[in-house]
Amino acid sequence: MSDAPVLSVVVPVYNEEDCVERFHRELAGTLRSMVETYEVVYVDDGSTDRSLELIDRIRSLDQHAHAVVLTRNFGHQLALTAGLEFARGAAVVTMDADLQHPPELIPRMMEEWRKGALVVNTVRTDTVDAGPLKRLTSRLFYGLINSLSKTPVRADAADFRLMDRRAVEALRSMKERHRFLRGMIGWLGFPEAKVEFAAGKRAGGESKYTWRKMFSMAADGIVSSSTLPLKAALLLGLAALGLCALYAVYVFYMFAFHGVILIKGWASTVLLTMFLGGCQLILLGVTGEYIGRIYEEIKSRPLFLVKELRGPHR
Ligand code: UDP
Ligand code: MG
Repeated sequence: MSDAPVLSVVVPVYNEEDCVERFHRELAGTLRSMVETYEVVYVDDGSTDRSLELIDRIRSLDQHAHAVVLTRNFGHQLALTAGLEFARGAAVVTMDADLQHPPELIPRMMEEWRKGALVVNTVRTDTVDAGPLKRLTSRLFYGLINSLSKTPVRADAADFRLMDRRAVEALRSMKERHRFLRGMIGWLGFPEAKVEFAAGKRAGGESKYTWRKMFSMAADGIVSSSTLPLKAALLLGLAALGLCALYAVYVFYMFAFHGVILIKGWASTVLLTMFLGGCQLILLGVTGEYIGRIYEEIKSRPLFLVKELRGPHR
């Protein structure tokens, strides 16, 4: 395509009526002075507030802005995926609409891209908004996922990043439903660079990531980056078998050489039964998670549905 812009900025929007206009003003202010041709692709992820109306107003004032309207709320990761599908730029930046991802960083990201990086991650040095609990759980999560996954998952690399067209196309070829972009990017193996920034406060509204959404994203991240939890069944089973064998030897030894019949073992029997029952249930659950995902993938429904494209797309 000859009229493809140099830069596309993909912005998922879900109920951001308090931020989106201010976001666009700041973004446009930065882009206008730094890049010859650009487009901003807003993905309305089934907002129920005035977000879409405001995006339309933005579009009527700025011919660089487009909107991809999804039929319902598909979630942040799929909204990003939808945006990547329609972005045409030689470089594509993904960022949030709440101004926690400062547009001023884009020039530095473009610089790294021009120097040859195909993926430019941003690293938050500090999130003013995040409480100590969110920080701790985030650190635990990245520790766990990196010890499980064979390819790196960058901690703190929020979904504020620049991707070269080649990386975008590679990502588009990965059709899995449970998407964890941070892990998928590491899997690509393209040369990466990073740019540091301090995340500010949300410009308005509230975080759309409830604890439930974060937990489900964490589970997606682990299950989609690793099959190690499945192997845990084998290890636990072997360990349990080993312990049982040792105990059997002990019981036999006491009987044969000391004539002692152990009958005091009631408590330990119950404990053992409970322990094994617990292990089995957990592992059944783990297996179920994977099977559930196989089922979802095998249905191979589209990842998202577009209700409407607004603006000069395609
Ligand atoms: N978002 C979305 N769909 C959702 C939830 C969030 O498109 O179901 C968008 C949201 O509008 C924002 C970005 O994804 O632009 C990140 O969401 P948020 O700021 O709530 O996450 P946090 O920064 O708190 O991790
Ligand atoms: Mg945010």
